[in-house]
Amino acid sequence: MTYRVNTTIPCGNAGDIMIEERRERTRVSFAADPHENGIQTIWFNLRIERCGEARPLTLVLKHVDNMLVDLSRLELFRPVTRRDGGSWERLPAPRLEPLPDGRMELAWDVTPPAEWLEVAIGTPYGMEQLEALVTDCDGYWSKDVIGLSMGGKQMVRLANEYGTVDGDRPGIYLSARCHANETQGSWVLDAVLRRLYARRHEAPLVWVIPFVNTDCVLDGDTGKDMYPWDMNRSFDPKAPTRHETLVIQRDARRWKTRCLPALCIDFHGWVSMSANGIYGIPTVPHESHSPTATWEQLEWMRAIRAAVGDEYCEQQFAWFPCWQTPWDGGWWLSRFLAVETGAPAMVFELPDTYVRDRMLSQEDYIVIGSRFGDAIIDRLNAIV
Ligand SMILES: [Zn+2]
Repeated sequence: MTYRVNTTIPCGNAGDIMIEERRERTRVSFAADPHENGIQTIWFNLRIERCGEARPLTLVLKHVDNMLVDLSRLELFRPVTRRDGGSWERLPAPRLEPLPDGRMELAWDVTPPAEWLEVAIGTPYGMEQLEALVTDCDGYWSKDVIGLSMGGKQMVRLANEYGTVDGDRPGIYLSARCHANETQGSWVLDAVLRRLYARRHEAPLVWVIPFVNTDCVLDGDTGKDMYPWDMNRSFDPKAPTRHETLVIQRDARRWKTRCLPALCIDFHGWVSMSANGIYGIPTVPHESHSPTATWEQLEWMRAIRAAVGDEYCEQQFAWFPCWQTPWDGGWWLSRFLAVETGAPAMVFELPDTYVRDRMLSQEDYIVIGSRFGDAIIDRLNAIV
């Protein structure tokens, strides 16, 4: 063998791995592994290590038909790759390889690495990247363990200040990765937190749950429509259906007593093969699921949209999409926060690959997150 596949990297995921030495090239085929707790598969992240001569290499993604992607636009499917410690780049357009029974595989011919090459559906963001953020911000973000996940992993919360009981400082509560595969939510949140650090003398009190679904993030699971409950449908305040939910609910209740709750944002995302841009979903501050928004929510959305810019945003920026999932209308994290804290709470859906014809890079996530950070500080300064 000239190559081997390593899935024990942080957030690693690949299954049905096959390595074939063909006449001209080595062909490494793999699939996104649902692991043991997911209905959906989408996340994959693997390292291909050289253990022989540098033969030309072909990557083949199998079982695409079972993935949570737009099967009508597979030519736009652009995973990311990095080699030998370099930066992440998008793969070129895939070669579509239909199988005789109608299934489809996607193939990419790539340059052999000196030592290794990683490939993932989106740029990975796990504990290593979170540690880098905390280090780069010189101790500004305190990192506390607020409980354990159902898999026994430490659930982390960042805070720039703890506040005091009955404190009157405006507070915001941020979160990402209810759905573990949505790493663009983490990259944007990372840039928000760096921006808040850069403008720390104007920043409000900020508490952050960087990995709502800690187990799935760290284990390299997709974590979308997971069994038996999607994390973002499990926040019923009367009957939380996961332990992580209970931990975050208690943390949010703690937060609201130590500041004046001003804003809650939960970042999400999707693989954007047919994307018009970022949009926001206001969540109603009561138990009904009717699609209405408060004036305050819409004012926040206007401010954020103006700051983030037309080039990244969907024309209809605030709306109520309807997904087909087994838990339509359930208790989202943001709905819980709206009901529990009375603060305007919203979800932002971030495209991963494209906004219309524009292909997004890491730099775009940094720009988007910085603008979110500016919008938060500028609007709070304007209204408080
Ligand atoms: Zn999501």
